[in-house]
Amino acid sequence: MRKKLIAGNWKMNGLKADAKALATAIFAKATSDMHFDMLVCPPMNVLGFVAELPHTGVFVGAQDVAETVKLNGAFTGDVSAHMVHDLGATWTLVGHSERRQYHHETDAIVKQKAINAITEGLTTVICIGETLAERDAGKAVEVVRRQTRECVPAEATAENCVIAYEPVWAIGTGKVPTTADVAEIHAAVRDELAQVLGAEKAENMRILYGGSVKPENAKELLNVDNVDGALIGGASLKADSFWAIAEAVK
Ligand code: PEP
Repeated sequence: MRKKLIAGNWKMNGLKADAKALATAIFAKATSDMHFDMLVCPPMNVLGFVAELPHTGVFVGAQDVAETVKLNGAFTGDVSAHMVHDLGATWTLVGHSERRQYHHETDAIVKQKAINAITEGLTTVICIGETLAERDAGKAVEVVRRQTRECVPAEATAENCVIAYEPVWAIGTGKVPTTADVAEIHAAVRDELAQVLGAEKAENMRILYGGSVKPENAKELLNVDNVDGALIGGASLKADSFWAIAEAVK
């Protein structure tokens, strides 16, 4: 039985005061015996600060880690998985579409980042998803299969890795795929995982849906076959809406 995961990606939002207010409000409701897992991914400027707040029942993660395998060195602006870990975070995202789009991250780079994170002991959410042009061209399944094959490293397990399917055209737009489309993609990702990692790991690995998840559509999306939770951007910036989504988990 895969425990659902409700994950918030705060993106480039939050000065110290905002982060403290948001994190405190989210953490206040969490307990160690919830029937779902919860993760928040603050931006790097407040990551250590948030990780130092009492956060029983909620994991704290980064939004990215450096590509280099070096733990430190001449990589201006980069933050290694080792440094993320040192800040007190235990998770990270890699391969978010905004990293792929604005920083030209390829599948090979995403895979290397996932290896660095897993090697450091960080549980790693690998983000994949097709663009609108790819969906319109009928290539969504082919794209997510390729991304799964090329981004998920051999060292991934159901314990140290989670996949997040986020159609690029659904992120921050208010548009969501039909539940049939979500089911088709998640089944394809699980099938591809079985080919990459073997049937057992694939069966146990969580696959999240992300892209305009809101309290209003959470229940429907979280009930789709093979949807093991949600990665949430905009609606994770308010404790009430983030929790309302979490409370839609059966
Ligand atoms: C995201 O960026 O990971 C995301 C899913 O954003 P939103 O929920 O705002 O669409």
